[in-house]
This record gives sequence, structure tokens and C-alpha cells, in this order.
Amino acid sequence: MDFSSARKSMVEYQLRARGIQSEVVLQVIEKIPRHLFVPEKLQEYAYEDHPLSIGCGQTISQPYMVAIMTELLELKTSDRVLEVGTGSGYQTAVLAEIAQHVVSIERIKELAEKAEQRLMNLGYTNIKIVCGDGSLGYPPEAPYDAIIVTAGSPEVPESLKKQLNEGGRLIIPVGGSNLQVLLKIIKKGNDYRIEKHTSCIFVPLIGSEGWKNYGDN
Ligand code: SAM
Repeated sequence: MDFSSARKSMVEYQLRARGIQSEVVLQVIEKIPRHLFVPEKLQEYAYEDHPLSIGCGQTISQPYMVAIMTELLELKTSDRVLEVGTGSGYQTAVLAEIAQHVVSIERIKELAEKAEQRLMNLGYTNIKIVCGDGSLGYPPEAPYDAIIVTAGSPEVPESLKKQLNEGGRLIIPVGGSNLQVLLKIIKKGNDYRIEKHTSCIFVPLIGSEGWKNYGDN
């Protein structure tokens, strides 16, 4: 399979044609070999417009959702970013291509370890992978210029808001377990401006400031 032309088509027809405007985001997505972030038997579907299973009951997000969330973050090359929900590490790679430093936190050890290995093999040196409850953020490296949560939360975790730098942006899907709205929260002094964006469906953010006691997963 010609992954490079599949990637080009994905960028043109699934992303640019549907309104993604940031050239930086489009270029980065065209560069990263997304098929290396999914199980081998699913590689042929890596450039289609839907999430894919990555094991442990989790998913790699739909490419359009990765693009829209990254665009909303308005990243600068000097930014320090926190990602909650490493999963496959694909979104982590997208962030690391644009920003200066990325901390990504994942609650499932097996996924965190696999993603770390994958990102190391691809040569990323500006990423730190942590295993833990990201609903509490990651205080040792706070504050962050941007925080992205790639799992759905019943509400906006206070800990994440507190770990934003002045002018910092937090992108998070908030709502019920079956449907959420993508929120963008911008810290301005002691205030937080909230914008509502598209509807979305994410796996749950499981943790102290997310969904508590969500099965035993
Ligand atoms: N960004 C990922 C990617 O590019 O593959 C997709 C992430 S997947 C949709 C959501 C991930 O969030 C899952 O791997 C899940 O285990 C993780 N997660 C859920 N609750 C979490 C928490 N409290 N802290 C850290 N990770 C969490």
C-alpha cells in the first residue's frame, strides 16, 4: 500500500476540504506516518476518517478530530504542552512537531510504554511520557502554554485549569459518556474564557477529576 499518497489524500479531502486551515497542522499531519501508530493488521485503514482500536479497549482518534484540536490549540514553536491520554502517541507526535516540549500522560501502563518506544524509534527527543492520572494534570512541569485532553470528561478538571500559563489554552471534550462538546478554555488573569466547538465522542477520562469508578478498566 502507498501510505504516502493515502496520507496526502487524507490531508486534502478529510482535513483541508472540511475546513482545517492551519498550514502547519496540515503539513505536520502529512509528514507523520500514522500507520506506524496502529496495530499492523489495521495499517491499511490508518488514513481513513475514523478512530481505530489500539488495544486495551482504547482508540487512536479520528484524523479530523486530531487536526481540529491541534488547530484550536494555536501552538507556537516556544510552547510547552501537556497532553492527557497518550494512547498510541500519534497526537503526541503531532504536538511535538510544532511545540518546544510535550509532556503526555497515560493511565494505562502498557499503552504508555508502547507509545514511548514508538516515539523514541521515530526520533522524537522533546517528549516526556508519564504513566498516571492525567485528570490531575502533571504539576512537576506546570504551567503549560497549552493542554489537550483526548478523553471525554464530565466536567473541566480544576487541576488542569490551574496548570495553564497566562494566555494558555485548554482543549477538552466535556459532556456525557456517549457525547461531548469540544471546549476551548483560555486563561486571562483570574478569568477563564470558554468557547464551545464541535460535538464529539471520546472514550472516558477515568480519574479523580474525570469519571470516577468507571468499571475496572
Ligand atoms: N491521543 C491518543 C492518540 O493519538 O492515540 C488517543 C487517546 S484515546 C482516545 C484516550 C486515552 O486516554 C486512552 O489511551 C486512555 O487510556 C487515556 N486516559 C483515560 N483517562 C485517563 C487519565 N485520567 N489519565 C491519563 N490517560 C487517560
